[in-house]
Amino acid sequence: MNHVCSNPVSCLPDEAGHFGRYGGSFIGETLAPAVAQLREAYLRYRDDPAFRAEFEYELAHYVGRPTPIYHARRLSEQAGGAQIFLKREDLNHTGAHKINNVIGQAMLARRMGKPRIIAETGAGQHGVATATICARYGLECVVYMGSEDVRRQRPNVERMHLLGATVRAVDSGSRTLKDAMNEAMRDWVTNVDNTFYLIGTVAGMHPYPMMVRDFQSVIGRECLTQMPSLLAELGMGRRQPDVVVACVGGGSNAMGIFHPYIDLPDVRLVGVEAAGQGLDSGRHAASILRGSPGVLHGNRTMVLQDAHGQVVETHSISAGLDYPGVGPEHAWLHETGRAEYAGATDEAALEAFQRLCRVEGIIPALESSHAVAHALALAPTMRRDQVILVNLSGRGDKDIDTVSAALA
Ligand SMILES: *Cc1c(COP(=O)(O)O)cnc(C)c1O
Repeated sequence: MNHVCSNPVSCLPDEAGHFGRYGGSFIGETLAPAVAQLREAYLRYRDDPAFRAEFEYELAHYVGRPTPIYHARRLSEQAGGAQIFLKREDLNHTGAHKINNVIGQAMLARRMGKPRIIAETGAGQHGVATATICARYGLECVVYMGSEDVRRQRPNVERMHLLGATVRAVDSGSRTLKDAMNEAMRDWVTNVDNTFYLIGTVAGMHPYPMMVRDFQSVIGRECLTQMPSLLAELGMGRRQPDVVVACVGGGSNAMGIFHPYIDLPDVRLVGVEAAGQGLDSGRHAASILRGSPGVLHGNRTMVLQDAHGQVVETHSISAGLDYPGVGPEHAWLHETGRAEYAGATDEAALEAFQRLCRVEGIIPALESSHAVAHALALAPTMRRDQVILVNLSGRGDKDIDTVSAALA
């Protein structure tokens, strides 16, 4: 997980968790000791050989890593231009990249002597991943979820129950993710002695954005070795891709695949936000493209907020991208120009979803379909010998009802 630092962009955050003017730790006094304890524990274990060996063992034997990279030949043919490759995070145990991060944090919780895990979830995917790993390690698991989300995401609530987790429906505010986040923080303050707060994306107060990125970076590190050998095998030359594309909700699958590539300036990095019904419709979740700097979830980042700093309602056909902020490192990569950000609408994502099903026999998550949509737009602007690597962050079985309803 360690990274030898020579590049002023990829070496961040600094000791206080800043990525330029973003990141940091905006928390009350009551949480400060818990956060400090977590920071110390993570810094101690991140380079510990036994910790790293166990993490790698779990990734290999429980998750099924390394995930393959697949040349989507027919999809590329139809797009007409660059060759599209898919990093198959959908083939992980539980069907997405989220498992990589929850394993790392659960291992840390065990070493810190915290037998109780709390989490918040909107779409329920992070709740399921957390419940999974708590079952695996015999940890108590409490998941906070807005009552509106509990209603909308029934199958994931059922999964969490089967895995032995307690789901606490939150009835305050808009009864969605924001409210669940507040309840989780309240729980943490009250039960800090025995409780570990397991965050599901590269957000939250320092050290979470760095820690989650480090755990997810296994995705990009695998690509660094897989891509040259696969391209050589296909007669395209031993090299890295020209562009790496990933969808951005909170930004963890994108940071995971981007991070090892930051130091390779020839590789373009493109994050794709949910443009919903259009970037100018007011119904989207594009925090970087349409947000402004603010504080959310304990860090300074780009936030979708009104003139009074109130977080606004977001919209996306994919529940996993429906988050009013974004990880602070993305705000920084955007500001420095090292990564570019684009939007894909609900319509474009749906179209890409169906195309991948029909042409490659792969049912992608609606989140990942946003990245595929952007790759399909990008490919015709590139040469046939150029390469786009898409992070296929998850599988779409969970989305078939949403898709049927949208198509009806
Ligand atoms: C949760 C989720 C996302 C969005 O989260 P990030 O932190 O932005 O990666 C994307 N894809 C899938 C499949 C997810 O489950």
